[in-house]
Amino acid sequence: MPTLNQFNKKLKNMRFWVKLRSNLLFLVALALIVLGLILNGYAGIKFFSSKTKTSVPEKTEPVIAKPSPTPDRQQPLQEPTLLTESPASSLASLPTENPENEPKFGHFPYPEGDRQQMQIIASYAQQQYQRFESLMPEAALALMKMIYAARDDRVWIVPVSGFRPLEYQEKLFHRQIKRLGSPEAAAKLSAPPGYSEHHTGYAIDLTDGNFPKQDITYKFAETDAFQWLIIHAGEFGFELSFPENNTQGINYEPWHWRFIGSSKAEQIFSPARFSP
Ligand SMILES: [Zn+2]
Repeated sequence: MPTLNQFNKKLKNMRFWVKLRSNLLFLVALALIVLGLILNGYAGIKFFSSKTKTSVPEKTEPVIAKPSPTPDRQQPLQEPTLLTESPASSLASLPTENPENEPKFGHFPYPEGDRQQMQIIASYAQQQYQRFESLMPEAALALMKMIYAARDDRVWIVPVSGFRPLEYQEKLFHRQIKRLGSPEAAAKLSAPPGYSEHHTGYAIDLTDGNFPKQDITYKFAETDAFQWLIIHAGEFGFELSFPENNTQGINYEPWHWRFIGSSKAEQIFSPARFSP
């Protein structure tokens, strides 16, 4: 027979195990709850982070500086050389040489560049009208490099007019004569056909993408693009063809640049560059 003492001891022992078991159960339950909370939290974070990820467009939109409003006092160039129609068929055959090699109203004669070789360098648009511009390959590549170097400096250079076929210049020049009354007056602003640097595919009219209303206007000289070009264009083989008070007597054209970065281009423009 167990004594009362022994019985008490046994009871105490039993209580201990019961207590230990309930404690263990409590601890396991607590651990499970904590684990559940951790897993839930993790899943929640994952869910939200995946949600925010999908709401971001895969490609970052290019940040283009908003154009500041163009001042009203801006004076458009009296005689815009802006082309509003596409050049005539590039397949039309035309003489590539001028019979006379003398300058006409200050403009030097230029042969038309090889149309097959021209590279598209940009499109130029105004409202619904859109056209593609091209240049000779070496000038095209140099221009692209220049445009992207300017872009690194947050300057937006836009090509307006590159290669022009002879027949197109003819149309343009006759329009100027009609407006201004004489070929002499027209030649101050536009070259006669056969005498435009644009025929060569080595000349380009440039503008500032942030100031579309200043395309081919003297106001262009106040833009960041022009200020940048004045400093850097030479590094890419470009120079201003008609600076202020040029020896050819042609009106100042801040937008008109010619390429002299290849021996061929340099040779073509040497009569104009070294004219007295
Ligand atoms: Zn031009």
